[in-house]
Amino acid sequence: MLTKLLSHETCAACRSCCQFSSYDIWSTPVLNEETRPKAKALLPDAQFLRKGEHAWVFRIQQFDADDNFTCPLLDPEQGCMLGKEKPFCCSIWPVQIMEIEGKQAITLSPLCKAVLQQPFEEILTFVRSELAEVIFAYADAHPEEVLPYDGVSPILLWK
Ligand code: SF4
Repeated sequence: MLTKLLSHETCAACRSCCQFSSYDIWSTPVLNEETRPKAKALLPDAQFLRKGEHAWVFRIQQFDADDNFTCPLLDPEQGCMLGKEKPFCCSIWPVQIMEIEGKQAITLSPLCKAVLQQPFEEILTFVRSELAEVIFAYADAHPEEVLPYDGVSPILLWK
């Protein structure tokens, strides 16, 4: 969804968005009723925790020696095993949908170095013209996937 901001090559060379430290573990991918069965079929031993009635996250068994949890759906060679059917939050990252004091807002994760190299105005124009409507509509249909505000992500747009 963000190919106008990030090329496939840039993402393929990085993949940091598929790794989580103990500090950003709250942002692991949220699977829904469509994506969880696909993940389960690919990873029969995976365990999930409910995030709500219609949302799940992976149960983290352990962190690696660098204090990171790598999403089990990340294939080191091929990238995300779900391909174009990856979770919505992954398809829009580093853009995020968050709730701040009861209101929805679109924010930008400060962790994506590639996007942060681009002019803020260009990011904002792209999000406003091409993403906002889709993101807010998805959030309305999937409120359990809206993240609590992390206190550090710049706010791009309010609903
Ligand atoms: S679901 Fe796919 S895109 Fe999302 S964190 Fe896991 S491997 Fe990365």
